Amino acid sequence: MMDKRSKLQARREFLQKTGLQVAGLAALAPVIASRAQAQDKLAPEMVMYQNQPKDNQRCDGCLHFQPPNACAIVSGEIKPEGWCAVWAAKG
Ligand code: SF4
Repeated sequence: MMDKRSKLQARREFLQKTGLQVAGLAALAPVIASRAQAQDKLAPEMVMYQNQPKDNQRCDGCLHFQPPNACAIVSGEIKPEGWCAVWAAKG
């Protein structure tokens, strides 16, 4: 049988472990939230999307382009020869 002291110790350890688990979940919350946001793409009109290139900038030269006709951050059908205001050169 546990004496009073080891019961207290066991309780303390239990609380520490549980506390860590709760803290761990809380730490994950912003990650989960930002993932959810990442799935909500921007509307094409918000980023002035157009079906034509601008100067020498085209979607198929953009970091965010997902062939054949999508974009990681802008919703809807994206043409390889299109362009928008958040164009970013491929690495
Ligand atoms: S320019 Fe880039 S960010 Fe904009 S729609 Fe085209 S691929 Fe997406």
